[in-house]
Amino acid sequence: MTEQKDHKSDISKSLENIASLIVSGRSAALIAPKLLQQELAERLAGLILCLEGNACQKCPSCRLWVGKTHPDLIPKGSFDQAPGIDDCRRIWEDISLVPVAGPCRLAVLYGCDRLSLPAGNSLLKITEEPPEKGRILLFLEEDNLIPTLRSRLVIFKYPVKSIGGPLKFPEDIEEFMKWIESAEGKKPSELLLDLSEWIPALVKKRKHQLAARIETVRMISEKGNLKVAMIQDLVHEALQEGSQFDHLFGDLW
Ligand SMILES: [Zn+2]
Repeated sequence: MTEQKDHKSDISKSLENIASLIVSGRSAALIAPKLLQQELAERLAGLILCLEGNACQKCPSCRLWVGKTHPDLIPKGSFDQAPGIDDCRRIWEDISLVPVAGPCRLAVLYGCDRLSLPAGNSLLKITEEPPEKGRILLFLEEDNLIPTLRSRLVIFKYPVKSIGGPLKFPEDIEEFMKWIESAEGKKPSELLLDLSEWIPALVKKRKHQLAARIETVRMISEKGNLKVAMIQDLVHEALQEGSQFDHLFGDLW
């Protein structure tokens, strides 16, 4: 298992980079599809709020996660609604408290492509100079922040470019086996991120039906909290031409 590090996907590495930048005190914004924001936020928060910095699941801070909540994680707004001016004003208070167990307090602001001008303006000071142990991460779907706020943030765009070009989806059974191998030691959520990456690539290749199947697998797996092996089975089923897949799951569409 010494090679486990090499198996880490480029996404994981990118998220680690973003997390360590935020830990260091920079405020950041991540531009990502709505569909993925929750997943990315959870993974980033897991890294940022871990005392070891690697979502170890063992340290006193990691042990305080209850589902998707952590006492040092302060979510604001939703995917469809940006935090309002009052929410934004309260952030200072929220993240300047002493962390309960984590190395910092983390405010995650969703829907920031819809921030009102006053709300955006109210974030200028706190993003530039957050409290000593307060950190801020913004999520947006479109890169449309007001320039004064934008200039105070490090902006990332998802998917962060990987070294080997865009992530490939398995074209045949051989590539599928490779994907299975590369999934060794991965968590279900990491597999689902892979699937999310395949979809735009498939659409680009005009493989709409397959894209829809993969999205169905992703949805079912997410909703059902499926284990790695089950997700792989479903992907296998979805990849096979003329399989029972549409028969079984087609009703969802
Ligand atoms: Zn930890």
